Amino acid sequence: MDLARFPRRRYTPWPTPIEKLAHLSRELGGPEIYLKRDDLLGLAGGGSKTRKLEFLMADALARGADTIITVGAVQSNHCRLTLAAAIKEGLKCRLLLEERVPGSYRPEASGNNFLYRLLGAEQIRVVAAGGLNAALPEMVSEAASPAHKSQEGRRTYVIPVGGSTPLGALGYVACAQELLSQCFDLGLQFDHLVCTSGSAGTHAGLLVGLLGNSSRLPITGINVSRPRAEQEAIVHTLAEQTAELAGLRGAVPRETVLCLDEWLGPGYSLPTAAMIEAVKLLARLEGILLDPVYTGKAMAGLLELVKRGQFAKGEKVLFLHTGGSPALYAYQQAILGNPGLG
Ligand SMILES: *Cc1c(COP(=O)(O)O)cnc(C)c1O
Repeated sequence: MDLARFPRRRYTPWPTPIEKLAHLSRELGGPEIYLKRDDLLGLAGGGSKTRKLEFLMADALARGADTIITVGAVQSNHCRLTLAAAIKEGLKCRLLLEERVPGSYRPEASGNNFLYRLLGAEQIRVVAAGGLNAALPEMVSEAASPAHKSQEGRRTYVIPVGGSTPLGALGYVACAQELLSQCFDLGLQFDHLVCTSGSAGTHAGLLVGLLGNSSRLPITGINVSRPRAEQEAIVHTLAEQTAELAGLRGAVPRETVLCLDEWLGPGYSLPTAAMIEAVKLLARLEGILLDPVYTGKAMAGLLELVKRGQFAKGEKVLFLHTGGSPALYAYQQAILGNPGLG
């Protein structure tokens, strides 16, 4: 697929590595597990949003924006990386945070919240769950109206939750192409790809990129925010829109969309025992930092699927590590307990 007609900024000058997790594979005694290290993407702290922002920021610049407004949860990797991209491009950035778990916003919290302040967000506004739709237009018109008669209002560019628009999802169409060319170069053939499925841009982009390159690599999405049917519908719709934008002929078959919800636990960003176990296991066996909200739950899913025999012995399973480790610092107690010696 030819993505060259889309303006793109580059925030990572090389492909992210593919690494075999030898210790984990041996421990599990089934399939061979590999990581695609998208936690090593560019911008402050890395992670999947960097790929989406390459296309979204290029669009913002082409439209002459001077202020980016974006939204996310209180520990949002997307907000951190959007802020970092805006700084790199010389733009201002304002954040609208949704307190999806009531009472979860603490101005002094560590993790991504600390980084919003360190990176110098121009404005941070916090609303209760469900408050985004009302607050976002207010923030936009507030920015667009001049503070003084002598000044001009801001030219704003809004990036929706997770950067998961068809344009943002092109970042993961590009990732699928990068992955296929790496596999070709390395002489590697994967049997399964496992990724996190949240605001869906990652999952949808990968689907379109693989489909558009005639790859038969099946994707297993692990949900972090919604039940299965709801998530599959969201991924499918976004994949169809992304396919159209990318110029892919033919529909995205509905049966290629698989989103498992068994590792979501009580809800988005809420810790589960399986997440904690997966985060500890990867840290102690491989020296890999997962995150508590996304990749910890997705890895918990992968581990259990292996235990159930879902992947055959000798098969090669690739886990997309989408980043998020800065959020670990806001979950120290949940993960290691008190006094933190676990
Ligand atoms: C946002 C995010 C995801 C989920 O990606 P979506 O495109 O929103 O589905 C996964 N992992 C991390 C670390 C993220 O920040």
